[in-house]
Formats: sequence, structure tokens, C-alpha cells
Amino acid sequence: MGEKLKEARYAFSEQEVKTYFTAPKVLQGLFRIIETLFEVAIRPDTAPVWHPGVQFFRIERGTHLVGQFYLDPGARTGKRGGAWMDDVRARWLRPDTGALQTPVAHLVCNFAEGVGDKPALLTHDDVITLFHEFGHGLHHLLTQVNERDVSGISGVEWDAVELPSQFMENFCWEWDVLKHMTAHVDTGEPLPRALYDKMLAAKNFQSGLQTLRQVEFSLFDMLLHMGQAPVVNGHPDILALLKQVRDEVAVLQAPEYNRTPHTFGHIFSGGYSAGYYSYKWAEVLSADAYAAFEEAAEHTGTTLDVATGRRYREAVLEAGGSRPAMESFKAFRGREPQLDALLRHQGMTTA
Ligand SMILES: [Zn+2]
Repeated sequence: MGEKLKEARYAFSEQEVKTYFTAPKVLQGLFRIIETLFEVAIRPDTAPVWHPGVQFFRIERGTHLVGQFYLDPGARTGKRGGAWMDDVRARWLRPDTGALQTPVAHLVCNFAEGVGDKPALLTHDDVITLFHEFGHGLHHLLTQVNERDVSGISGVEWDAVELPSQFMENFCWEWDVLKHMTAHVDTGEPLPRALYDKMLAAKNFQSGLQTLRQVEFSLFDMLLHMGQAPVVNGHPDILALLKQVRDEVAVLQAPEYNRTPHTFGHIFSGGYSAGYYSYKWAEVLSADAYAAFEEAAEHTGTTLDVATGRRYREAVLEAGGSRPAMESFKAFRGREPQLDALLRHQGMTTA
């Protein structure tokens, strides 16, 4: 029912959107954001690669090499699906030789290849995925920590690892950014404003319901692992616990036969046991971090504000796991995280 309502209210063609997100233009736009905000230059580099579609780049600040990464964007037969960032090696000042090892990362996606002589076209979701993975990549590559076990993404608490990745997603909804990273595959025209407005309107459709669903899963997971399920005949009654949680938070009650916990793999085999809340928590952190850029834009006219970018880079990205993530956040924001930005971004409060 939700899908039909969405279609009726916010109809726009994903296919039409795609024609504006040509892969080279999107990548160029992404690099421009990174270079502007984090005061680096991204240049093509050479290294042996495992497929002709793989590109290799170096990130420099001034004349210094900061890090390097492989980008493997395209889908092909035999390649594992999905998108991910993986560390190849971490920044490390070698105690034996005194030499500095700079970080290297893999950035892997599975975007459809271009047809004929046309460039690959990305869906808006693809673009968000690309930005997300680059957020992880930057966390790993821009670190200034010299101790291998806590440099880059190493040693960062579970509930803060998605902060840099979700943070980057915000730019994919920024009109001033989108204007510069879209070019119609045939005409070269940027994304029309009317189409952007429709995408934005659809973005927050039922975001309240989705939030409550995440809260329901998070609470259930946490209470379950705290041993709070009611005991019936000597056994914890999982469904009774879920009902308790739903009675507290759900607006739409699930039918009696619903067995969500039986397939809730995240909290049994996915590594999210008592940690499912981290999805929502990382959204709070990343929205609040991004709000600092929105606040800067009120004065400078752009979210690509260099001074704020530098503070974010130094406090969050460069610090890696060398201190508690909350300390890094407070060093950037000057206070503990607040909910306001997330509620506003998801259309639950007005600006
Ligand atoms: Zn991620």
C-alpha cells in the first residue's frame, strides 16, 4: 500500500533521473567535493590492477602523498555483488625503519556498465552508495595517526564507523552539489530543478514509520541481549518481548503470525548483537556533523566550506581510532550529538 501511495504522490521516473548521472561526471563531482573540503588533490596513479575497468588514484596534499586507492566501479560476471570499502594497508610509522607507510584502500561497487560508446549511467541510489563508500575510504585514507592498530578505520567503535560514510551521503541531496555533478547523457544539461524537487519530496516519504521500525528493532535487540524477555516454562519468550516493544513504539501493529525475529540475521550472525541501534545512532552523528556544514553555508553560501571541512577532517577523519569517537565528535561540534538535524533532514520537523 505504501508503495502505491508513494507512486501516486511522488511519481518520477528513475530511468529519467539516471540519464543525468553519467559516471565520469559524478566521479568528477565527488572528487571536487573531496578536494575542496579536505584540501587534497586526487590524481590518476599507476599500479598493477586485476581488471581493465579498475582505476588507481593517489591523494596528495601539497607535495605529500596522503594515500592511494583502487576504484573498481563496474558490475561484471564473476564479481561479488554489492559495494564496499576495504583497507589494503593502514598508515603506519614503522618503528624498525622509521619509514612512513601510507594507507591504501579498495573501493568496490557494482554499477551497470555503459552501453556502446555511452558512459555508464548511475541511479541516484548508486550515487549515494558511491559517496557512502568514499566516506569510509576517506576515514581510512586521510588519517594522520601513525600507530597501525588505531589509524584509519582500525579501532573505531562499532557505533561510529558509519559516521564518515553516512556523512558523505548528505551531499547527494544538495542542490548546489547536484547541479555540478550531473550532465545529461545526450544533451549535457544538468539535472532539472523540477525533477530534483520530486526526488527530495519522495525522500522522506514515511520516514516517521521507518524510524519507528528501526527503534523497534533496536530496542528488541538490546532488551533481548540484556535478558529482558519474559520467561515462560523456563524459556525466554521472544515473541512476547517483541510484542512488549511494539506496544510501546509501533503505530501500525504487525499481525499475530508475524515472526520477524526468526529471520533477524543481523543480531544472530551479522555481528550486530546488541548493536543494531548503531544504524540509527550513526545517522544521528552524521546528520549532526553535516549540520555544521549547513550552518556554515548560512554565512558562506555553500556547504563546501573549507574551514568547517578542515575542522571535521582534523577532529573526526584524521583521528581514527586513536581516541573515543565521542571525543572526536565533541572536538568537532563542541558538544555532544543532538537529534535536531536528523529529525529535520528526514522531514519530521521544519527548519
Ligand atoms: Zn558503510
